[in-house]
Amino acid sequence: MDTLESIWLNTKKLIEKTLSDDDKSVVYKEFFDDTSLVELTDREAVVLTKYQFHTLVLNDNEHLNLINSSLQKVINRDIRCRIVFEDDYYKVKEDEIKNKKNSVEEFTNNVMPEYTFENFIHGPSNKEAYSAALAVATNPGRNIYNPLFIYGDSGLGKTHLLCAVGNYIKDKSPEKKVLYISSNNFVNQVYQASKNKSIDLLKNQLNSLDVLLMDDVQTLSGKKTSNDVFFDIYNELFNNRKQIILTSDRLPSQIKDIEERLISRFTQGLSVTITTPEFDTALEILKLKINTHNISPNSIEPEVLSYLATNFANDVRSLEGSLNRLLFYSINYNDKETIDMNLALEAFKGHVTTHKKQTELQIKDVINVVSDYYGITKNQICGKSRTKNIANARHIVMYLCYKHIVDTSYDKIGKELGGRDHSTVLSGCEKISKLLKSNESYRKVISEIEHDLLTR
Ligand code: ADP
Ligand code: MG
Repeated sequence: MDTLESIWLNTKKLIEKTLSDDDKSVVYKEFFDDTSLVELTDREAVVLTKYQFHTLVLNDNEHLNLINSSLQKVINRDIRCRIVFEDDYYKVKEDEIKNKKNSVEEFTNNVMPEYTFENFIHGPSNKEAYSAALAVATNPGRNIYNPLFIYGDSGLGKTHLLCAVGNYIKDKSPEKKVLYISSNNFVNQVYQASKNKSIDLLKNQLNSLDVLLMDDVQTLSGKKTSNDVFFDIYNELFNNRKQIILTSDRLPSQIKDIEERLISRFTQGLSVTITTPEFDTALEILKLKINTHNISPNSIEPEVLSYLATNFANDVRSLEGSLNRLLFYSINYNDKETIDMNLALEAFKGHVTTHKKQTELQIKDVINVVSDYYGITKNQICGKSRTKNIANARHIVMYLCYKHIVDTSYDKIGKELGGRDHSTVLSGCEKISKLLKSNESYRKVISEIEHDLLTR
């Protein structure tokens, strides 16, 4: 095959000959001699000049025609030449290379290192997703778990688990190509690539992966080109037994405006869900996060942790936020060694209403939950019995009403609890507060009841 150099040499010979026939040898020497051919596609050739001024000259009709027709003769097909000043040409090329390089870098090493299995607390709410993720991490590409589809509300740990798989595989098999990418970023990459006409490059990059971790696939909804590109990549990876893990805030069948063929592939492997952490899991997560803040776990009273786990564990992100708020508040306003319930109540004044049910809570709800918990009747709680068990349940009702019900008072509580007076309720609340300070198993009981109350 002829090289660009030899093609151009022959073309220049033709041009030189034509010009010398016309007595314009000097024109050839001045403008054509040091041109070069750098690109030749089906329809277009790119010819470079050494000086900007030469580009202007060679771009006039007469010269351009001469160049086009000479090159056509040499390669024996129709072709148009683009005359470009060398410096401009290489500048554009450099930028293109830089852009490509950036996108390649973006495509590797982007699994967030802080999310691992070691710092993922597992409990009933996420056990299934945790086990499946671990199974995939230890043995990627096995068909039954391909793709692994993890779904659940925001803030419940989907991204964390996804990256945990990536970090695990990278650690055990550093040669494996692992990519974490959010679907939003993927859509952007597809958009850029289609603008730069480099969709094939993008596909090649992704097709060469061993593990694709794609976050929040619900955002592919309505993005036709991205759906198509993803479909091709998906099939290629799947057929080559490469592991795919996807997350979404909903089930595949609930993702609107996404191609049916993609949905059916999403459900081809295993779908697992993560739900709101239960009380114990939330408590464990809090302890772990306290550790990462380098704070001694003893510096926060257990009652406070129960309070956070009860009121802010709708999702883990909010739970972390509540701890951060508490620590911030403590650094600025606490003059004691430990963080106690008083400080927590101060820190979250006006914030606990983030728990929707809190505002709707009424005294009768507390009576219901406590009587259910102890297996006694409402009448017993509101009645006159002083049996230890019943009196204790009654005191707990007083304490929880005062703690959780917005805009209440000892008087109001007393009235609904069989017409008791202010001071009886006050002393009941104090009894419980004291027990909470001194008795670990009692704290557990109260937390459990609080949990029932706020998730009823
Ligand atoms: P999602 O992707 O589901 O919206 P993330 O994975 O971003 O949620 O999790 C939100 C935050 O909660 C992260 O900081 C994550 O580390 C933390 N988190 C979630 N679940 C757990 C868990 N089980 N153990 C420890 N941290 C968790
Ligand atoms: Mg996420």
